[in-house]
Amino acid sequence: MKAAPFDYLEAYSADDAVHLMHESGADAAILAGGQTLMPLLALRMATPSVLVDINPAKDMVGITRGDHGIRVGARTRQAAAKRDPVIAQHLPVLTEALTHVGHHQTRSRGTIGGSTALGEPAAELPATAVALGALVELRSKRGTRLVPARDFYTADGIKNTVIGLLIFGVLSNGLNQLQLDIYVRLWVRGIILLIALIINIYALKLRDTGAAE
Ligand SMILES: Cc1cc2nc3c(=O)[nH]c(=O)nc-3n(C[C@H](O)[C@H](O)[C@H](O)COP(=O)(O)OP(=O)(O)OC[C@H]3O[C@@H](n4cnc5c(N)ncnc54)[C@H](O)[C@@H]3O)c2cc1C
Repeated sequence: MKAAPFDYLEAYSADDAVHLMHESGADAAILAGGQTLMPLLALRMATPSVLVDINPAKDMVGITRGDHGIRVGARTRQAAAKRDPVIAQHLPVLTEALTHVGHHQTRSRGTIGGSTALGEPAAELPATAVALGALVELRSKRGTRLVPARDFYTADGIKNTVIGLLIFGVLSNGLNQLQLDIYVRLWVRGIILLIALIINIYALKLRDTGAAE
């Protein structure tokens, strides 16, 4: 299957992305890493009339430490965030969570903002952002606002907004060193497969025993 026709526009900055999204109407979509969007387009499960590609937007990339915490640009690749020393030092749980996001190949294209925008219930980044009390910067023609990650998925008016960056945690003079951050991924599918395997082996053994008697 091929994607439905769409117009393709490139955004060279976050402001550019906001402008293009505003001009392109309600069914425009942002293209970040394309790890989810491209398959959805190919299957025609997403049919935006315009794609606004934020890959050229250099000002949406990078990890900086500011007064209010660690700012991660939405277009920052997950692989870059995973190996970032500032994140590793101050937000080790985020580094740990990122090791579970897909595979090396998907992380090298997938972005922090893309995973946040998508908000898959089983995805690592949305849950980690909520757990760490991150703020999501939303940009639209009406201006910029910061929404706590825990409110982001229920907030009004997020359609056609551009996630500019995520702000993680307030650095509190090393206080983070006193807390223990642990990320555990519940491998539910794996556990179910293991149980199914054990039942199958047991059933085969019973059948063989029955056949032998
Ligand atoms: C094989 C495979 C395995 C994966 N495994 C996991 C996993 O184990 N755990 C996990 O958490 N994830 C997993 N993912 C998801 C993946 O890692 C990405 O996080 C996800 O696809 C979104 O990132 P992206 O940058 O590619 O976004 P895209 O696919 O480009 O976009 C996704 C959505 O977000 C919107 N969007 C993107 N950027 C912005 C922005 N700045 N502002 C507003 N909207 C935006 C797009 O319009 C689109 O609707 C997997 C993906 C694949 C293909």
